[in-house]
Amino acid sequence: MKTSILAVGTELLFGQTVNTNAAFLSDKLNHMGFDVMYHFVVGDNPARLKEKLAEAFSDTDLVILTGGLGPTQDDLTKEMVAEYMGRNMYLDEEVIEQLKGFFEKRGRKMTENNVKQAYLPEGCTPFYNASGTAPGFALSVDGKTAICLPGPPREMMWLWDNGVRAYLEQFMDKKMFYRVIRTIGIGESDLETILMPVIDGQTDPTVATYAKEGECTLRVASQRDTIEEAEAAVREMTERIDALVGDYIYSYDDEDLKDVVVRILKEKGLRITSAESCTGGLFPASITDVAGASDVLSSAYVTYSNESKIKELNVPAEIIDRYGVVSPQVAKAMAEGARVRAGADIAVSVTGYAGPEADPGHEAGEAYIGYAMGDNIGFYEVRTSRNERKWNRNYILLRMLRAVYLLIK
Ligand code: ATP
Repeated sequence: MKTSILAVGTELLFGQTVNTNAAFLSDKLNHMGFDVMYHFVVGDNPARLKEKLAEAFSDTDLVILTGGLGPTQDDLTKEMVAEYMGRNMYLDEEVIEQLKGFFEKRGRKMTENNVKQAYLPEGCTPFYNASGTAPGFALSVDGKTAICLPGPPREMMWLWDNGVRAYLEQFMDKKMFYRVIRTIGIGESDLETILMPVIDGQTDPTVATYAKEGECTLRVASQRDTIEEAEAAVREMTERIDALVGDYIYSYDDEDLKDVVVRILKEKGLRITSAESCTGGLFPASITDVAGASDVLSSAYVTYSNESKIKELNVPAEIIDRYGVVSPQVAKAMAEGARVRAGADIAVSVTGYAGPEADPGHEAGEAYIGYAMGDNIGFYEVRTSRNERKWNRNYILLRMLRAVYLLIK
């Protein structure tokens, strides 16, 4: 189904707010098999809003609007949609009850202008909003459907999950099943080249590759008459992909690498520690982002100076002198030192140059990741060839997570 997204709000045009709603909705709609053809953004201006609505409906059958459903005078989205589609407004008692409950619970008085939010176009399908005050709704007239959702992203996403997605299923003549496969350690062009035999000329399932911040994602999607057929087609394609690039895959279900690492550590009852210089604690920060991290993380060390590497991690000064502090030997000694000191099963370490500067003879983005698990002590070399500090630090973190993943998988 041809679809447009129309975001309403002057703050979007001023650049004060990024139009994340459009990105979220496009992604979700695309995954369901809707063809998103246009994104429109319009300020809080009734005439221009109606004009863009007409333009959107001239070429698409579904228009999803976000923003401008609030209680204030400049919130005019639903009035304009109702007018455009030739419907009057009615007072929805259920919304009134919900608004009363919402304000009572917070010990606040409901103001007169909140009642404005309880008016909806006649004949619409309301989406009641338990995460805020403005309800959303869908209105279908003569084969054209408008869906209005509140602007605050949290509320918009809540309504998507609690009503909108289910409502849209009626427009899907085919059933869609997709899977997001995540890989690390291989670039997008290499991935595409290797997968060419299975991607080329493929219409269903489709295989799309996306690169994002140091890793690559594959989306395998199929649309068939039944969900079982779509699922089987995706499963069969996944097996073919697995045979070609299985070594780089760490999730078949769109999980983050940190989540996968914590899950496996937990399953295997392993405790981990880390020792970092250039990433300054990103590793434990990322592990503790995952619920249940206390079961797997024992402690972590940030040893920026040479002295601290010697004092905290027992790295022999002689190794630093001989090989330099950014070296495989120091990375390994840091990992082993941290593992012993923390009494952990596994340690991962890093020493490197995040950039933009590096010492003579080295380059920004050069780093050595050490690991230690029992007798298995080793390292990986990283060279990003970039001098962007933030990017390098995040990429090195991913490579640390990958080093751990390869040890425990
Ligand atoms: P409410 O009555 O709950 O405020 P509303 O539908 O009137 O809902 P707006 O007033 O348009 O919403 O926007 C509320 C908030 O949502 C603002 O902080 C705005 O910046 C943000 N917002 C609006 N539209 C978008 C968008 N397209 N993407 C991201 N944020 C948005």
